[in-house]
Amino acid sequence: MGQVEDVLKNQPLDCGACNKCCRKKPGILLFPEIGDDPAVYGDNVEIVDDRPILKTKPNGDCVYLDLETGCTNYENRPRVCRTYDCRSDYIQWIEKPRAERRAMMKKGLLNQSVQKEGRTRLKAILQSKRPLIVAD
Ligand code: SF4
Ligand code: SF4
Repeated sequence: MGQVEDVLKNQPLDCGACNKCCRKKPGILLFPEIGDDPAVYGDNVEIVDDRPILKTKPNGDCVYLDLETGCTNYENRPRVCRTYDCRSDYIQWIEKPRAERRAMMKKGLLNQSVQKEGRTRLKAILQSKRPLIVAD
């Protein structure tokens, strides 16, 4: 297993008070097929292309995001919010051509600040591991 894969698998992501992936996006997709219940979110759900999504505020933030306190519906947050890891996302996208990444950012489908968060957190762990690797 490579060093990056090892980090992603074995080093839990500590989000702290980041919340960047809750901000400025088209909306959080819900996946009833893996356990999301759209009814739980009442009027905060809309259907786009046959897929339920959480609505966003006018500025693009998730309707449940409070910038002071974080997610206001944490216990019921969707599956994607429970499993998302910006470090994996960063690794997947960095392998794609820059033009493709830029096009996705322009469309609002790729969030640059989230990508930066993934890169920063991945680098921090890899750098903290370096002395151990040298010692081996
Ligand atoms: S951008 Fe990354 S660190 Fe920040 S909340 Fe999302 S998953 Fe966590
Ligand atoms: S439901 Fe909560 S965790 Fe998920 S995007 Fe919205 S504010 Fe963030």
